[in-house]
Amino acid sequence: MIKKIGALALVFCLLLTILSPTLVQAQSGLTVLESSAEAEFPSRLNFSLTARSDADITDIRLCYVVDRVGFARVISEAYVEFAPAATVDIGSSLEMVKLGGLPPGSTVEYWWKIADDSGDRLATEPEQVHFDDTRYDWQTLTEGKVTLYWYSGSNNFAQELMETTQAALAKLAGDTGAELERPARLYIYASSGDLQGSMIYPQEWTGGVAFTRHGTMAIGISPSNINWGKDAIAHELTHLVIHQITLNPYNSLPVWLDEGLAMRSEGLLEPQFSTALREAIVTDSLISVQSLCSPFSAYSDEAVLSYAQSHSLVEFLITDYGQEKMFELLTTFKQGSGYDDALEAVYGFDMDELDSLWQVYVIDKYQAAVGS
Ligand SMILES: [Zn+2]
Repeated sequence: MIKKIGALALVFCLLLTILSPTLVQAQSGLTVLESSAEAEFPSRLNFSLTARSDADITDIRLCYVVDRVGFARVISEAYVEFAPAATVDIGSSLEMVKLGGLPPGSTVEYWWKIADDSGDRLATEPEQVHFDDTRYDWQTLTEGKVTLYWYSGSNNFAQELMETTQAALAKLAGDTGAELERPARLYIYASSGDLQGSMIYPQEWTGGVAFTRHGTMAIGISPSNINWGKDAIAHELTHLVIHQITLNPYNSLPVWLDEGLAMRSEGLLEPQFSTALREAIVTDSLISVQSLCSPFSAYSDEAVLSYAQSHSLVEFLITDYGQEKMFELLTTFKQGSGYDDALEAVYGFDMDELDSLWQVYVIDKYQAAVGS
């Protein structure tokens, strides 16, 4: 692709010029004259390169690695289209629409591989470009492994959210033994509208999102909806911690466990959930544990009941069997264990038996409602 960074793109001014890679010269005279990268958040990363050689340059590839937790270091290589020439001046973009988007604060390592007609090759030294949301003037607050980024609201507002964050981590550790393994970044946008502006595929209902493999969360919270915001932080942070400690290439967690732990971190079950649970008990329409292993229904009534049951299942396991067993269950899942196998290994019962035991627990707990 020929370099086409025109005046229009520059007008948007969201660009941040980053480091210039070390320029390397091959023996043949294959030389990098200029190389740079710019973040155009949230849409793309723009790279540019000027290189010269004694022979025509015929092959240029942009290599890059996104900094996120994975099972192997994945190097991507993008071919750059251009007309062979002794001097080339090219641009290449990583479109986030194709990558599925990256959260704010992501780091991408990149380098160029260049070859000319005489068979000479050269690779530049790896450099980093930061994909920051430069539309806002971020302030930061760090405590333990968490850094909170915010741009709207007072220091007290940020401090209050940090206290919620630390309390949620402490509660999760007490319930399950699970703790943050790696640093977490928490971006507090001033509204869900601002948050959605940071995303490639925003949904109008998106209020918070956890990028668990990046250790990043982004939530839209204003001082007027701070109570909702605190619940959202506790919920998303739990997903982040639980995914960190259970990530494996073989199997994901059953959804009821993942969502149940996240709901539990929020504290008391809100009335719409407890009402849905009571009604399902009364009308004998509880969803099976087996069904709750898969993503929840898009129908809101069924989704509310799914969350409520997940909360109650996790409460049952933690209340009746304790923190150590829950930690053992999570570490068993990290080994890629199947759902029935993991439950059998830790608790001595499978999902169907869990279903029966939990129903006794929950019906007992809501007996007054059932009786009525
Ligand atoms: Zn969730």
